Order: sequence, then C-alpha cells, then structure tokens
Amino acid sequence: MHLKSLTLRGFKSFASSTTLRLEPGITCVVGPNGSGKSNVVDALAWVMGEQGAKSLRGGKMEDVIFAGTAGRPALGRAEVVLTIDNTDGALPIEYSEVTISRTMFRNGGSEYAINGQGCRLLDVQELLSDSGIGREMHVIVGQGQLDAVLSATPEDRRGFVEEAAGVLKHRKRKEKALRKLEAMQANLTRVQDLTAELR
Ligand code: ATP
Repeated sequence: MHLKSLTLRGFKSFASSTTLRLEPGITCVVGPNGSGKSNVVDALAWVMGEQGAKSLRGGKMEDVIFAGTAGRPALGRAEVVLTIDNTDGALPIEYSEVTISRTMFRNGGSEYAINGQGCRLLDVQELLSDSGIGREMHVIVGQGQLDAVLSATPEDRRGFVEEAAGVLKHRKRKEKALRKLEAMQANLTRVQDLTAELR
C-alpha cells in the first residue's frame, strides 16, 4: 500500500486545484518559508479524518478553507482527495485503488466519500485503522512531537503501539458494546422492578 496522490482544492493556501503525485519511496516537498509545505501535511491529516482545529494549526475547523488573498476572493468550500494504491490489499476493501475524499463548506460540516460513495467519518476511520495510517495520526510526526512521545505516560505510549498494531479499533468496539450492555442491564433492572410492583 502506498499513497498515490493528494489533490487539494480550496484547502488553506491551495485555492486552485493542485495534485501532488507520490511515487513509492521518499517524497520531499521543498519551498520557501510560508509557501504551503505544512499545509500539504495538514491536508493529508484532514482527509483522513482529523477533527482537531489545533492539530491543523488553525483556530476553528473553517480555517482550512481558502480565506482569500489581496488578488483572490475567499472560497466557500475546501476539498481534499487522497488516492491510495491498495494492490496488496492492505486496506480491507476490494479495490486495488482507494480514493478517500473530504469536503467542508463554510456554513456546514464535513462530507466524506470512499471511492465516490458518500460515507461517515467512522467508515473512513475504520478503513484506515488497521493500515497504520489511522485516526491517531502517529504516522505524521510534527515538529516537537518526538518530545511529546518521549514524555508520554506509559498508558499513552501503549495507545500509540495499539493504534499502530490495529488493536485500538477492537478496544473501541469493545467499549461501545460494554456501554450498550450496561444500558441493557439498567433497562432489565427497571423491568424487574416494574414486574415486582405489579405482582
Ligand atoms: P515554513 O517553511 O515556514 O514552515 P510552510 O511552507 O510549511 O512554511 P505553511 O505553514 O504550509 O508554509 O503555509 C503557510 C501559508 O499558508 C501562510 O502564507 C498562510 O497565510 C497560508 N494559509 C493558511 N491557511 C490559509 C487559508 N485558510 N487561506 C489562505 N491561506 C492560508
């Protein structure tokens, strides 16, 4: 599996549609200060479902939409499309090429699609969670982040390893099932109380 291309439209400083083709191996993005190198990495995190404006170096989520310049008006939407080569079947989906897209409108939330089919954020997260490029984004190491990993608590550090190993998805599902079970138990107790009262 490898990332094949990334297309940005109206995302941060990329007002016009811009596609970066990524070959297997190492890709370097070079450019002067403020030219948008980090915005490319932000786009990658964003299309994979990043929910924190701070992680995207903004104050609020709408800050990812092109805000306009002296010569160009602001845009109303941002879109990022990530194409992944899945010929080795690393992603649990029967396509050799997988396209994930996320669109955000200035007046609303985000829309996600996998291979052109609208889907939920959860679907994108689940698709990626076993691939090593999951929700917690441990594949994107930002400036100063190494320090944070080194000073993390043992629990947090275990979380990093579990995410990388694909265990986190099952832990989340287990937690969800346990919560449902607790709610069921509460309902059952209530039914038993009512039955006892009616006797
Ligand atoms: P450095 O080498 O200094 O780290 P960089 O190449 O990584 O710089 P970025 O941080 O990716 O640069 O880009 C910063 C630029 O993106 C700034 O000029 C900023 O004004 C612009 N920018 C960020 N968000 C938006 C937005 N929503 N609309 C328009 N431009 C934006």
